[in-house]
Parts: sequence; C-alpha cells; structure tokens
Amino acid sequence: MTDDLFARPDPAAPPCPQTGRARFAPGALVSVLTTQPLDRTLDYRAPQAGCAKGDFVEVPLGPRRVLGVVWGAGEGGYDLSRVRPVHRVLDVAPMRDEMRQFLTRAAEYTLTPLPAMLRLATRSPGLGQDVSLRRVYARGAADPDRMTDARARVLAVFDDAPGLSFTMAELAELAGCGASVVRGLVAQGAVEEREAPRDTAYPRLDPDLPGKPLTDDQAPAAAQLTGAVAAGRYGTTMLRGVTGSGKTEVYLEAVAACLRAGRQALVLLPEIALTSEFLSRVEARFGARPAEWHHGVTQTERRRCWKMAAEGGASLVVGARSALFLPFRDLGLIVVDEEHDTSYKQEDGVLYSARDMAVLRASLASAQVVLASATPSLETWANVESGKYRALTLHSRFGDRAMPDMRAIDMRAEDVPPGRWVSPTLRALIADRLEKGEQSLLFLNRRGYAPVTICRACGGMIGCDHCDARMVEHRFLKRLVCHQCGETRPIPAACPSCDVEGKLAPVGPGVERMAEEATALFPEARVEVLSSDMYTSARALKARIEAIAAGDADIVVGTQLVAKGHNFPLLTLVGVIDADLGLQGSDLRAAERTFQLMRQVAGRAGRAERPGAAWLQTFQPDHPVIRAILKGDEDGFWAAEAAERRAAGVPPYGRMAGIVLSSPDVQAVFDLGNRMARADAPLRRVGARLYGPAPAPIARIRGRHRVRLLVKADKSAPLQAALAEWLAQIRIKGDIRLSVDIDPQSFY
Ligand code: ADP
Ligand code: ZN
Repeated sequence: MTDDLFARPDPAAPPCPQTGRARFAPGALVSVLTTQPLDRTLDYRAPQAGCAKGDFVEVPLGPRRVLGVVWGAGEGGYDLSRVRPVHRVLDVAPMRDEMRQFLTRAAEYTLTPLPAMLRLATRSPGLGQDVSLRRVYARGAADPDRMTDARARVLAVFDDAPGLSFTMAELAELAGCGASVVRGLVAQGAVEEREAPRDTAYPRLDPDLPGKPLTDDQAPAAAQLTGAVAAGRYGTTMLRGVTGSGKTEVYLEAVAACLRAGRQALVLLPEIALTSEFLSRVEARFGARPAEWHHGVTQTERRRCWKMAAEGGASLVVGARSALFLPFRDLGLIVVDEEHDTSYKQEDGVLYSARDMAVLRASLASAQVVLASATPSLETWANVESGKYRALTLHSRFGDRAMPDMRAIDMRAEDVPPGRWVSPTLRALIADRLEKGEQSLLFLNRRGYAPVTICRACGGMIGCDHCDARMVEHRFLKRLVCHQCGETRPIPAACPSCDVEGKLAPVGPGVERMAEEATALFPEARVEVLSSDMYTSARALKARIEAIAAGDADIVVGTQLVAKGHNFPLLTLVGVIDADLGLQGSDLRAAERTFQLMRQVAGRAGRAERPGAAWLQTFQPDHPVIRAILKGDEDGFWAAEAAERRAAGVPPYGRMAGIVLSSPDVQAVFDLGNRMARADAPLRRVGARLYGPAPAPIARIRGRHRVRLLVKADKSAPLQAALAEWLAQIRIKGDIRLSVDIDPQSFY
C-alpha cells in the first residue's frame, strides 16, 4: 500500500554542517509528508529561508493549508511550474530521524498508512501557534469574603493542581462557571491574574532526593534496572510481582537513573483515573510533578508537553498510550505499567499495541523498557522464554502482607432465590466485615442495571436499531444504552414489538442491580457503585475513589474499573459475583483474561495492615482456570496456557491478522470478502491460511454490516509483506471500510 513511501532513499541534498540534516535551498524541490489521507508524499518548493529534512511545515493543499513534515528531496518528473512553495516552517523542534524511523516501522508493522501515523505524532493542538504571552490565573493569597458554590469550584481546581495556572477558558470549563465568577475572585485577591509565556519547561525533578529504603526483595531488582538504564542501551525487562510488592517503587529507581543520565523517561498507565495517585508519588519521590499527557489534560498543557518533550524541557512524562508518539529529544526509559491491560491495544483508529510499540520505539532510541505487571501477558512470557526479554520477580508483598486468601463458593450448593445473586455464604462474609467496620467489594464486570430487557408478553428482547446488540438498561441514567454504538433512549413503558405495557423485565445482573440487592440485604450499609458510566468526568470519579478509599462506603460494587491499581486500605473482602463470566465465549484469550482479572481484583483486598480474602462465586469450581486462580499457581497456569496455544499455533506462538470489512450494504461486503478470499495467492506463498469471509461476532455496528476474514501464519512467516501484497490488489468501491488488525486482541 504505502511501500513506495518507505523505500524512498534519503535525499541527495547536502547535510547542514550544524544539524547534520539535509538542507534545501530556497526554491529547491522537497517532498512533504502530510497528515492528509493520501497514499504518497507531495512536492513543494522550499520557502524563502530554505528548509531542512524533518522540519514541520504548513503547505497549501487545494484551498487549505495542512500540516506536514519535510520528508526528503522532491521527485520531479512533471510540470515543475505548477509546484507551490511551502507556506512556512513552524517554530517547533524538527522531527528527529529516530522518530521518522519509528513512524515508518510502526506503519509497516501495523499496515497503517504513514499519514495516519504522522497524525498520531502531531496530536497536539496549535503546533503552528507562535510563542507569545497569554493571560493566566493562579491561586492568590487571600480568601474570598463570601463563598459561593461557583467560587468553591474555582478554588477546588487550584487545590487539585497545586502550582498550576489556567487560562480563563480552561478555568471556566474545569469549574463549570462563567468568567464573571473568576473576575470576582481576582478582585478579592483570591485568584491572581498574570501574563505568562507559553510553553515553559516543567520544574526539574531531583533524582537525588532520598527514595524509600528498598527491601531485600526489591533492591536487587532496582539495581538491575538502574544498571541497564545507566548503560544507555536498548533492553526490555519484565518486572513481575503481586499487587503491592513494590513494583512502582522499583521502577521509580529506574526513572531516577534515567534522570541522572540526563535522559527522558516515559511512564504509561492504563487508566487516567490512576494518574493522580501516581503523580503524587512522583512528587514525593522527585520533589516536583512531571508532565502529563492524556485526553483529560487541557489543550494548552498538551501543546506544552509536546513541545517540551521535543526540546528536553520535560524529563518525565506520565501518560496514556498515545504518549508513545511524543517527539522526545532523548528517551532513555519507557515503563509500561500493568502491561497486560487490554486498554493498551488501540481498538479503533490506528490499531497498535502500545506495549509492542514501546519496545520498537525503545530499540530505536537505545532506551530501556520495563513491562510491569502482577499478571504479565502470555506474549511477554513467551518473549522472556525465548530470551528476548529479561525477567525480574518481586516475590512478596511489601511489609509481609499476604496475598489474600482465595476460595471458591460452589453456587451449585447455594440456595439463591431467582433474581438474586449474592449467596448465603457471601452474605455472611459481608455481614462479618460490616460488623468490623471493614469494606467489602462486590465485583461484577457488567455496567448498567441488567444486561438484557425481555418482554414477558411476547418474549422479545429490546435490541439496538443500528447494531447486532441488546440495549442495556441503565437505571441510574434512566435510559437504555447500546454498549456498541452508545445510542440511548428512554426506558419505554410498553414493549416496542407487541405494545403491551408493564411487561418489560430485566434479566441478569449488572452493577446497578447488584447495588440494589446489597442495599436490600444490608439496609444500614453505605453502598456505592464504581462504574465508568456513573461519573461525568475523570475528576469526579477520582474524587469518589479517594473518598471511598478514606472509608466513605461499606460495600463497593464495581466493574473492572476497580481492578486497576487503586488502593483501598480498609478493603478486606472481595466477592466475585460471577467468576465464570469471562470463561464463556470463543475468545482466544478468555482464560488469560479471567486469570488476570481475578488475580488483579483479589489484589484489592488486604493492602493495609488487615489481611484480605477473595471469594469467587462459580458454578464450575473444578474448571482448570478457576483452580489455577484459587491455587495462585501462576507459573503452572502460564505453562498450561502456553502449551495449549503452542499446539494450536495461535499467538504468541503463531501469527494472526484480523480483517474486518464493513458497509451498510450486506451484499457488497460479502462480495468483497469472497473476492479477497479468491485472491489469496500472496498469503499462500508464505504459508499463511485464510479463514472466512464470515459474519463478524457482532455482525452489525452503527448500521454497518461486518464481515471478518482471519489470517493465520507461522511465527516466522513474513506476514506483513504478504498482507500488503494481497491488499494492494484489492480495489474497494463504494462505502466499504476495510480495517486490518495485526495481532488482534479481541474478536468482535
Ligand atoms: P505495586 O506497584 O507492586 O502494586 P507499590 O510500589 O505500589 O506496589 O507498593 C505498594 C505499597 O507499599 C505502596 O504504598 C508503597 O509505597 C509501599 N511500599 C512498597 N515498597 C516500599 C518500601 N521499600 N518502603 C516503604 N514503602 C513501600
Ligand atoms: Zn447500537
């Protein structure tokens, strides 16, 4: 598809003596890679002051101006009088060669067109804006004479981000108030107005402030990592240890080594709700807060972070997976925390695994990668096994806290009335915790009130009009929601199929329904639901999590949101409502995911001085996965899982690619799928096998019919090249979309 882009030789232009980058004299032909969905670079003339390879530029394209990067010398070979000049060179650090290689290799690996990769690498608003002063607001010394709700919200924004200042627009958005409220506070000296230069460097982090004294378990692991970082070469290390064993303390030492070496570090977290706890730990360790990069930070901060990564004014960035595409000047370390987490795989837009891309980026930057997890992915285990990655293990929880005791509740022997899910055994355990003033967590990985709404008159279920999916009742929102496309509608009084009123009934439990049951069982208890859809902002969610951690609830009902790294010191009981849930379905990684999730959720219990217990409600206590979870036999589980996947020739011991075709026209997608299947010679040449076309497991989303083809190949097969050759012969007509997912994580 875009092979010609990769294959183009470096430009013949002479390198600039100062920068080593090829320079182009005014009027010289240059090729520019733009962020526009084109399958080639475009030629322009270098501007008045000339330009150099890697410069970010604005170029005219039709009536518009678009962002691009000077990629090399122009091609020529056509009417040169029509070539337009580059509009201007942007005042940002040019793209470094290493970044260009990273984007090129990542594009090749994921079969993504290079312009889409460049879009990922320039996802920062206002790169073209000139540096100038702007008006910002910070917390002043005085308190207002009179406190109103709006004023309190403004001041809370400052309390939340000590030392930061905001523009008026940001404040208004974060506090949900008008400019007049802020001006009132300025008049009283409670808020200060000042002129600040844009895009300043972040405060210096001090690696030589004392860290916590490490335990005998932690110190050797930290020494290995700091040694590797100091050596300044590429390497990847799996850092394994149960939740609470001090992985974060250990990798912060690697960050310290990286800072000492004067290089930049990047820490990726799977969930932005986790960042604030982590930022505080960084501040405690290094004396200042690092740069932050995710969709929850303001546009101004994002641009500052992008520019400072490029100029070296950000020595540590904490962020979401897209932070991998920041233009670091000298990246020495990437930490992927909770590396097994599925959110690291981008499932829409560009399909890439942040874990794999971190390894690629580090290998090009001579940087170290740390993959931290209590339950590493099988991919990572396999790479340790084959000697590609090193392994470090922390064996015990910090402070000799035991891993929670894990037990099964055999639901076949429990007497649970219809429409209820808490077994008598679990109920007694919760009652015991309530008496002791400790917290319990009821875990159910299902948002909403009930997964299915059925009509007792006609037997019909309410489905989404646009998707092959059921509408899920969310009582809290008072609406039915499609979890595929997000469509919502009011809960109807009458069945949409038969028009009979009052016969719609929920079937099965969601977290909201579990909360209802918990309240019915324990009317005095404070019951709280933690589910992503219950909060309007990451800030509100974070505030609730902190309150709960401080003891502001007795029973927490949560989805997998709670499984991820939050600290609840008073929590001593985890009750898994349905441990069998994840084992259903045909997903290749069902066993792995269930194992990881159950171990992760159990890890929430007993983090402080009180020992914890995790109880799993299951109808199949003898299922091998359930038994492995209960025994805590990680090595045994991974060995068995690996043997099964090796025998089946599936990842990580074989290669796969998923191709999904979608269109409003069902015939058109099947026709195309069949044509692709007949044209599979390039795949067969490398020994790859093609399965399908078949309807995708979710056969319709947002009104588009979906057809799937699956390609399987040996581990050593040159899969990308074969796929590229195969796809290059396919002409797509009409409103059909084709997406390629290399190493798919889920099949939907
Ligand atoms: P993990 O990342 O493996 O879940 P953490 O690094 O978050 O573990 O450690 C769990 C808790 O134990 C944290 O509150 C941390 O501050 C504390 N802790 C870990 N190691 C030490 C240590 N050597 N000294 C003091 N506290 C520690
Ligand atoms: Zn839908």
